[in-house]
Amino acid sequence: MDTIRDNLKNIRATIAKTAINCGRNPDDIRLVAVSKRVPVASIQEAIEAGQLLFGENYIQEAEEKRASLPPEAALHFIGHLQSNKSNTAAKTFTMIETVDSVKLARTLNKHLNQLGRSMDILLQVNIGLDPRKAGALPENTKTLAKEILGFEHLRLKGLMTMPPLCQNAEEARPYFKALRLLSEDLQASSCFQPNISSVELSMGMSNDYTVAIEEGATLIRVGTAIFGNRQQ
Ligand SMILES: *Cc1c(COP(=O)(O)O)cnc(C)c1O
Repeated sequence: MDTIRDNLKNIRATIAKTAINCGRNPDDIRLVAVSKRVPVASIQEAIEAGQLLFGENYIQEAEEKRASLPPEAALHFIGHLQSNKSNTAAKTFTMIETVDSVKLARTLNKHLNQLGRSMDILLQVNIGLDPRKAGALPENTKTLAKEILGFEHLRLKGLMTMPPLCQNAEEARPYFKALRLLSEDLQASSCFQPNISSVELSMGMSNDYTVAIEEGATLIRVGTAIFGNRQQ
C-alpha cells in the first residue's frame, strides 16, 4: 500500500475539483506538503509521487533534512523564525512565509546580502487577533510591507496566516476572506514587490484547505492529510 502517494493523488484531485467549482485555475494553487517531524523516508516517498514543495517549521530539523533531499525539492519555512537562526534559514529555504517584523526582515536581508542572493518572503498576519498566534496585526501591515520593500534582497510576494483554532472549516472562512481583502488593499497601495503576476496567499491546512481555496489561497499548507499523524 502506498498511502502517501494515494493521499497526494486524492488531495490533488480535491484541489482541482474545488478550484474548478469556484471558477479558479487549479494551476494557480500550489500544495505545500508540511513535513515537520516527518522522517526523510516519507518525504522521499512524496517526492517519488511528484511532490516537490515542502513546508518545515524547525530550522535545525530542516537543515538536516535538506542535506539528504534532491536539489529539485524546495522548502518553505512556515515556523516561528528567531533572528539568530536567520543565517541558516537564508541558506535552507526558497521562501520564508513567516516574516512579521522589520527587525527580522533586516537581519534576513543582511545574511542574504552576505550570501549574494535574494529570497521570496511572505508577511505573516495575525488575522484573527489571536494572542496565541504569531504574525503582524492587520493594522500594521501596510507600514511593515513598505519598510520591507526597502530591503534589497527580500521580495515580498504576499501574505500568510494561521487563523484561530476553529471547530470546523466553515468557521475559518471569515478569516481567509479577511486575509484576501487585506491583500487586495495592500496591493492597491503598492505594498508588494513590483511586477509580480499575482499576490500569494498562504492559508488553509488539512482540515480547511478547500474553504481556503474558495477564498483565494494560492499556497495551501497540508501535513496530516498527506503524511498521517506526526511523530511526537
Ligand atoms: C503544522 C502546520 C501546518 C499543517 O497542519 P496540518 O493540520 O497537519 O495539515 C500548516 N501550517 C503551519 C504553519 C503549521 O505549523
